[in-house]
Amino acid sequence: MKIFIDGKYYDERDAKISVFDHGLLYGDGVFEGIRAYNRRVFKLKEHIDRLFYSAKAILLEIPMSQAEITSAVLDTCRENKIRNGYIRLVVTRGVGTLGLNPRSCKRSSVIIIADKIQLYPPELYRQGMDIVTVPTTRNLHSALNPAIKSLNYLNNILAKIEANNAGVEEAVMLNAEGFVAECTGDNLFIVKNGGLFTPPLSAGALYGITRQTVIDLARDTDLKVSEPNLTRYDLFCADECFLTGTGAEIVPVVKIDHRVIGAGKPGPITHKLVAAYHALTKASGEPIYR
Ligand code: PMP
Repeated sequence: MKIFIDGKYYDERDAKISVFDHGLLYGDGVFEGIRAYNRRVFKLKEHIDRLFYSAKAILLEIPMSQAEITSAVLDTCRENKIRNGYIRLVVTRGVGTLGLNPRSCKRSSVIIIADKIQLYPPELYRQGMDIVTVPTTRNLHSALNPAIKSLNYLNNILAKIEANNAGVEEAVMLNAEGFVAECTGDNLFIVKNGGLFTPPLSAGALYGITRQTVIDLARDTDLKVSEPNLTRYDLFCADECFLTGTGAEIVPVVKIDHRVIGAGKPGPITHKLVAAYHALTKASGEPIYR
């Protein structure tokens, strides 16, 4: 594997950054997780836009333009002969002193890894997932806004550990008011009486690109979508539930905190959206090879 660091390619074992990089010392940096399907990078512009907005929010200057990052992502895919894969794009604050002040970091670093994709097992998509709500609440937007896709994922990791401890793969995170925010690496949707519902972004969630894609697909098929605050009760009494994320795509959920959701198997609207999503990932995206 060839890894892009600041304009050069390195073999996997030589792809290293400094122990003084504030990305490592303080989680000071931003990132994106992007998928390639069928020799194309899906929603590349949306991911690069979000990367730049995350960077702007933490006053991190990315030492490359949007156009340069776009070509670097495509070039890294070509270097690694990617047809289907997962791309990790990371911008760290860069090398500084041991103090946390980012002013000591003179230049941020751009890292691009284009790898194979690690998937959940197929039966999980057929049968649906079992998830739990966890005690760790999502970060307050007034403290560390979940809209910023930062390298500081401890909030999510704590929730993931709680899900692991409960014997399941994913955790629903509530916000400090007790409304549903999102999962550790995915946004959440429910279906109720034929309508689609997902928490508002102000509840404390990442502006998920898969979330937006699913909303657009739903509206194309005349499915009504709304974004009200949701409680655990709303989840328990939903007809269907699913999670969305670049890596996981659309994952049906059939049990939450031991309550069976709907009929206890992936529902018809979930199936319909999964099919539409797969069709879109097959047919669109930025070509890697000309
Ligand atoms: N929420 C969190 C916390 C995430 O890290 C992610 C990305 N893995 C998502 C939601 C889903 O976002 P996207 O659809 O843009 O991948």
